[in-house]
Amino acid sequence: MWFDKKLSIDDFKSGDWRFELPETLKGHLFFQNLLKVLGGRIRSYEDIFDDLQRVTPELRDVPQTYRVNVLNSLLALVSSAAIENDGQVSPFLHIRHHLWLRELRRMVGQVAQLPNLRFADDLNDEQLQRHLPIVHCRECNSMGWTGLKRQHDNAVSTDLQSFYLAFFNDDPKVIFIFPEKAEPHEIQASGQFYNICTECLHLTTQLKASECPNCNRPELIRVFVPNTRVQRDNRQIGTHNCPYCGARNGLTILGSRAASLTSVLIAQLYTSTFNDDKKLLAFSDSVQDAAHRAGFFQGRTFRFNFRSALQQFVLNSGDGLSLAEMPGSFSQFWVGRMNQDAFISSFLAPNMTWFGDYETLKQSGRLPEGSTLLADIKRRIEWEIFSEYGISMSHRENP
Ligand SMILES: [Zn+2]
Ligand SMILES: [Zn+2]
Repeated sequence: MWFDKKLSIDDFKSGDWRFELPETLKGHLFFQNLLKVLGGRIRSYEDIFDDLQRVTPELRDVPQTYRVNVLNSLLALVSSAAIENDGQVSPFLHIRHHLWLRELRRMVGQVAQLPNLRFADDLNDEQLQRHLPIVHCRECNSMGWTGLKRQHDNAVSTDLQSFYLAFFNDDPKVIFIFPEKAEPHEIQASGQFYNICTECLHLTTQLKASECPNCNRPELIRVFVPNTRVQRDNRQIGTHNCPYCGARNGLTILGSRAASLTSVLIAQLYTSTFNDDKKLLAFSDSVQDAAHRAGFFQGRTFRFNFRSALQQFVLNSGDGLSLAEMPGSFSQFWVGRMNQDAFISSFLAPNMTWFGDYETLKQSGRLPEGSTLLADIKRRIEWEIFSEYGISMSHRENP
């Protein structure tokens, strides 16, 4: 694509092309221009495109995804380029890529035909009056608004602080509001159809109404509000079960905090087959927070690494094995591939690091006489495998 040159699969596998790349890249105009535009600084894609399109007409008037793909593909080539010095292979250039993500907290959607997703913190008081938190089902992806409503009141409150508190306390005042075109008899779950006013967020049972009985505005949306109140131990609580697929506790608030977002990122990086140099540094602006997150990432990393090890084993030699046979074969497979000590340090769950034998192994490099650590880890693996294919399948933790 860049050099008008075909590479056979065998040539690709030999890897020689990686050492030819630095010279060919240096001769390529786009690469030269990119270096000029960067000028040794860290710049955003937007700024790079602004400057690049002055000298590269092909980047003008094209969709943004196209431009991003062009730049990414060149950067991928630069990342693959290698040089050899005294038998030492090192990268031609070090590429530093920043990805800035905003924490998805206090996410709300406008109560409108097109419910744009917004950060509540970006909205003024007046706009907030027409936005509600978004809820979605983890199992079937049904989506709707959610808010607080007293049983005999028609108004849905937009106060986020009391909403979050109520939601996590299973407060029966929490209601779920799904835009719904279906007829009442087509919905199996019990609940009530309303028209919701996009201006004052009042609900009315008059489905034929042409304007809101409360504020007289004409923009109404037909919605279904499932009945989520149940009696438990002499008090009413609100359940979060999905009215469409029945998933227990399936309805969750849309959003993702930094710790979850980062752990998903880490998992992607660590399970990628393109990552042949796995290293991770995590920074945080508070010590307390950092310690908490380190534990969180460690726990997640163990889980994700375990899953990818399990998947590799299944693809490689899982054919015809029963679930009961898997744990034994899994351990045999990995001990054979990595030796016993590496096996122990790779598959020791984070909450087993306090085991005395593990301390000894870390300090002296060998296990004490008569140690049961290996057997303990294998028992834990047995549990983890059954759990992965059993309870964890239907009860996923938040991503
Ligand atoms: Zn569902
Ligand atoms: Zn109204």
